[in-house]
Amino acid sequence: MSTPAKLPELFGSLVFNEETMKERLSSASYKTWKKCVTEGTSLDISTANEIAEAMKQWAVEKGATHYTHWFQPMTGVTAEKHDSFISPVGGGKIIMEFSGKELVRGEPDASSFPSGGLRATFEARGYTAWDPTSFAFIKEGSLCIPTIFCSYSGHALDKKTPLLRSMDEVSRQAIRILRLFGDTEAKRVTASVGPEQEYFLIDKADYAKRKDLRMTGRTLFGAKPPRGQELEDHYFGAIRPRVAAYMKDLDEALWALGVLSKTKHNEVAPCQHEMAPIFSDANTACDHNQLAMEMMKKVAEKHGLVCLLHEKPFAGVNGSGKHDNWSLSTDTGKNLFKPGSTPSQNAQFLLFLAAFIKGVDEYQDFLRATVAFPGNDHRLGAQEAPPAIISIFLGDDLNGVVESIIKGTEYKDAGKRTLEIGVDVLPAIPQDNTDRNRTSPMAFTGNKFEFRALGSSQSISGPNIALNTIMAEELKQFADELETSKDFQADLQKLIKRVFTDHQRIIFNGNGYDDAWIAEAEKRGLCNLKSTADALPAYIAPKNVELFVKHGIYTKEEVQARYEIHVENYTSVISIEAHTMIDMIRHDILPAVSAYADQLCQRAYHKDSMGAAHKYEKATAAEVAQLTDELMDACVKLESDMAAVPADAKEAMQYSHATIVPDMAAARTVADKLETITASEYWPFPVYSDMLFYV
Ligand code: ADP
Ligand code: MG
Repeated sequence: MSTPAKLPELFGSLVFNEETMKERLSSASYKTWKKCVTEGTSLDISTANEIAEAMKQWAVEKGATHYTHWFQPMTGVTAEKHDSFISPVGGGKIIMEFSGKELVRGEPDASSFPSGGLRATFEARGYTAWDPTSFAFIKEGSLCIPTIFCSYSGHALDKKTPLLRSMDEVSRQAIRILRLFGDTEAKRVTASVGPEQEYFLIDKADYAKRKDLRMTGRTLFGAKPPRGQELEDHYFGAIRPRVAAYMKDLDEALWALGVLSKTKHNEVAPCQHEMAPIFSDANTACDHNQLAMEMMKKVAEKHGLVCLLHEKPFAGVNGSGKHDNWSLSTDTGKNLFKPGSTPSQNAQFLLFLAAFIKGVDEYQDFLRATVAFPGNDHRLGAQEAPPAIISIFLGDDLNGVVESIIKGTEYKDAGKRTLEIGVDVLPAIPQDNTDRNRTSPMAFTGNKFEFRALGSSQSISGPNIALNTIMAEELKQFADELETSKDFQADLQKLIKRVFTDHQRIIFNGNGYDDAWIAEAEKRGLCNLKSTADALPAYIAPKNVELFVKHGIYTKEEVQARYEIHVENYTSVISIEAHTMIDMIRHDILPAVSAYADQLCQRAYHKDSMGAAHKYEKATAAEVAQLTDELMDACVKLESDMAAVPADAKEAMQYSHATIVPDMAAARTVADKLETITASEYWPFPVYSDMLFYV
C-alpha cells in the first residue's frame, strides 16, 4: 500500500486530527475546540454541529458509511455501536446525515456491559459522550468517535472517564508544586505513557484445532517441547519473513490510525514479539493501545496467523507483559522526572521523586491490584516477570543520591560533597539506564518510571489512573505543606529527607527473582499479594477508597463496582477454563488415549499369539491405561468441585483460586504425561513444538 517515502502521507491519514480540523473548520470553531481541549471548557451545540458536519464530510470522502461511538467499557476491550449516516428524505432518496447532537452524545443500549450494580435495570441505558481530547478516526468504513461511557446517574461505566479525571487532578497538583519553584508559565502537566506490547503469533491452522486457545486464549494442556527458549536465539533475532510481512502490515495499519508504532523486535520466547509506540499523553496512549491490540489480531488473520495477547499462552515458555512507561511533563516541554542541570531543577526533580516513592509505598497494595487478573497470575512471581511484591528500582546513581540525603553523608561520586538540595547539582544520572534491572516491577529509567507488572491483554487505563491519582495525592500533601512555608529551601530539604527516610523500604535495587528478596520484603513490611484472589480486596481497602473519592476520580460506588466486576471476572475466567478442560479431557483426550491403548493391546495380543516379543506394546499399554484412569479421576474431581462453587461472588473467587486452579493443574500434569507417551497420530491436537516452531 505504501513505501517508506510515503510515510508522512500515510501517517494519520485515517484520523480527524488537529491539522485536519484546522483545515476544515471555521477559525472560530477550531478555537472553541482548542480551548475545550486545553482548558476543559465545554462545546456549544453550534460548534458541535459544525465539527460533526466537517467530520462527516471528511469521513465520507474517505469512504466511510457509518459512524460509531467508540468506548471502553469495564470489560477491558472496546465497544462500538454502528449507525449509518443514511437519512431518508422521501421519494426513496437518502442523504448522508450526522449532527452535533449525534457527535457529542449517544445512547447505546448498554445493559449487557458490566456495571457492577451501578446501573439499575430501570435505567438500563448508559450514555456516551465525545471526548474531544481524543481524535476521531476511520476503521473499516466507520467513523469512530472516542467517547466516555456513563450511567444516567452520572457514574462512570468505562475506563476512560476516570483516566481523564486522574489526568486533570495530577495536573492541578503538579502545577501547584511548579509554582513553588517559580514556574509561572506552565499551564498544564500531562501524564505521558508509552506502553510496550508483547504478543505471540501462531499459525491459524494450529489455533483452529485447539479448543483451549479458542475458548480461553491459552493452552490448558501441552508438555514441554524438546526445545523451548534455552538457546536464547529468538530475542532480537532476525525476524522471519512471514512475521516481517505481518509486522509491516501492522505498522502501516497503525500509522494510518495515527499510532506511533516505533520499535518491533522478537521477544524471549519462540513466536513472541513486541511492539512499542512512541509515548503520548496517557489518554491517547490508552486509546492507541486498545487500537493496537485490535489491529494486531485483525492483521494476523490476513496472514493466516493468530495473534495471542494472553499473558501465558504456553506453560514453560515466557509469557507476555506490557511495560507501562510513565512520566509527567509540562505543556512547556519539561519532563518532571528528568534530572536537570541546575540545583533548582534538581531540587524539583527530587521532590517529584519523593512524591513517587512515598505514593508507591503507601499504595503498593492498590498498584498490585491494578494488575491482578487470572492471566497475570501465571506470570507475576514466576521468575519471568516481576514478583508480586511492588518495589522501586532507582539504579546505583540515583540510589546513591537518595542514600546520601537520608544519611546526610557524602555521595559516592568524585565530588565527595554532602548534597544540599537546592544548592548542589546532582551527579550525572545517565538517561536510559544501562544497568537495567528487568526483575523490578517499577524501574526508574532515566526520565520515566517503567511499571512492568502489567499483563499483555489488559487495558493500561487502571494502572495509569492509579499512578496519576497517587501522584496527585502526594503532590497535594507537599504543596499544602510547602505553600505555607516561611523558609522554602530549608523546609524543602527537610521534607525530602523525611520522605526518603520514611519510605526507603520500597526501594530495592537487587534481583527481584531471588528468594532472599521475598524474605527481605517481608521483613520490610511490604505486601506480597501473590494471586488475584489475594490482591483484589485492596480495591476496597478504606484508605484506597478514600484516596480516589477525595480526588474525585471514583465515587465510593464506582470503586465498589470495579472491585465486584474484577471478582466476578476471576471466577468466570476460571470457570470457562475448567469447563473447556473437562470438555477436552472427555471428548478428545480420553477417547484418544483409550483408542491408543486398545491399539497397543491388540498388537500385543496378536504378537503374543504368534509367539513374538511384545514388551513395548504391553508396557506402554499398561502405562497409558494407568494414566488414562488417573486422568479420568482428576476430571471427575474437577467436575464435582465445579459443581460446588459457592454462590457468593467473593467466596466463589477464593474457592476457585484454592480448589479449582489446583484441580486443573493436577489434571494437566497427568494429561501432559500422556501426551509424551502417546503416538503422534493419536494425540488429538497440535502440540507445543508444532505451534511454537511453525516456520
Ligand atoms: P525498552 O524495551 O528498553 O524498555 P523501548 O524503547 O522499547 O525500551 O520502550 C521505551 C518506551 O518508553 C517507549 O514507548 C517510549 O516512547 C517510552 N517513553 C520514552 N520517554 C517517555 C516519557 N517521558 N514518558 C513516557 N514514556 C516514555
Ligand atoms: Mg521496557
